[in-house]
Amino acid sequence: MTTIKTDRRKMDKNRAHFKEAIKHLPLGVSSNFRYWGDDNTVFVKKGKGARLWDLDGNEYIDYRLGYGPAILGHCNDIVDAAAREAQSVGTVYALGTEKEVSVAKLIKEMMPAAELVRFSNSGTEAVMAALRLARGYTGKDNYVTFEGSYHGLFDATMWTADPEDMKDQSKDPKVIPYGLGIPQAVRQLFWQVPYNDAQRLEDVLKKNHDTIAAVLIEPILGNCCGIPSKPEFIKAVRALCTKYNVLMIVDEVKTGFRVAKGGAQELYGIEADIFTVAKAVANGYPISAIGGKEEILRKYGKGVAHGGTYTAQAMSLAAAEATLTILKDTDALKNIAAYGQAMQDGMHKVLVKRGIPHSFTGHQSMSGLFFSAEAPTTYRNWKLSDYTFYDTMAGILIDMGIMCEPDSREPWFISSAHDAACLSETLGKFEEAVDLTLDELAKGREDANKLMPGISG
Ligand code: PLP
Repeated sequence: MTTIKTDRRKMDKNRAHFKEAIKHLPLGVSSNFRYWGDDNTVFVKKGKGARLWDLDGNEYIDYRLGYGPAILGHCNDIVDAAAREAQSVGTVYALGTEKEVSVAKLIKEMMPAAELVRFSNSGTEAVMAALRLARGYTGKDNYVTFEGSYHGLFDATMWTADPEDMKDQSKDPKVIPYGLGIPQAVRQLFWQVPYNDAQRLEDVLKKNHDTIAAVLIEPILGNCCGIPSKPEFIKAVRALCTKYNVLMIVDEVKTGFRVAKGGAQELYGIEADIFTVAKAVANGYPISAIGGKEEILRKYGKGVAHGGTYTAQAMSLAAAEATLTILKDTDALKNIAAYGQAMQDGMHKVLVKRGIPHSFTGHQSMSGLFFSAEAPTTYRNWKLSDYTFYDTMAGILIDMGIMCEPDSREPWFISSAHDAACLSETLGKFEEAVDLTLDELAKGREDANKLMPGISG
């Protein structure tokens, strides 16, 4: 569990705001994950490019980017101007607009699996809609997910392999809900299998394919260290879905328009039956999309319900058009990956110099840093590893103005606004934070030894 330090920053205004906020908002925020403790919760004053400033004026280089969306950096001038211009048209009419078609065309051009496109507002909504579509198309109710995945805040996917039940490797961990309020009845509808294990998937499909509508997969575990699918694994998932007549839903909410212009499907050379994209679509404006094979998508309107007051809202659509055009026509993604690689190379140098075993997971644009020589390939690997070093270091880095994710499962996200100045500042502070972490962990061990009962005799 990360302890976020506040040795170097003033936090008076953040703390005063928290005291007010808690009176009106549960945990003082609008998402449980934004609460970092009564004294450590950060409130943003503004952001620009790769940086953000909090209420106390502390400046941070942002490697969270709102969990990925701000792919061109915060408050991108071109995207924001497009969104402002769209305001002159208005926001929602419960009618279609011309821009839906231009954005759908862009998505189709960039992602070949998109024969047709439907818009939603968030990643959760898109995955929910994709699963319903798969069920409606196949006439089957059940589905398969993988350990370590996250697909949004809805009952069907808010289940995880119990991290406290992984010590005995000879058996599968219990699958438990993420929290209260998720009906136990849902558990009967799905199987959860280990990631990167095609044999385990085949075992389930072979026996149960008659009841299974879809296999739902994150091609890179964007919520578990950025653990990537092994190429042979994701290709096998594709082949098994075809073999057993089950739809493959590729959840590209985090990877879409980030790891390549055509997302992870382009990287791995696969095509989904249905896929979802969200975060990088509009540089932070709320929009998501479901894409896929025409025959399947046409089920919308032929029995499968989908809609929503805010779907294809004008400002988000305009922001999407501007963002996707930049991503399609420029080297933005190449530059992002090059920055990510340079950051990894710099971190590697610092860690090698100190003899600290480490590895990187995922794609350069959304990579995990892992403190063991071998990167994890499954959720179980991650859970059984020691992430104390990361947790301690992240708490120090945030205090220094490097806004990485305190939870070691979340990757570091890069935007096209991260520049050479960000890189050298990040690496300088990283080196300092690594040394402070070593000191702190050594001190912790000394203190623990002092507490050991003395051996007399
Ligand atoms: N799917 C994946 C792979 C995600 O990473 C997320 C969010 O992090 C979601 C779905 C849910 O997206 P949202 O938070 O926009 O509802």
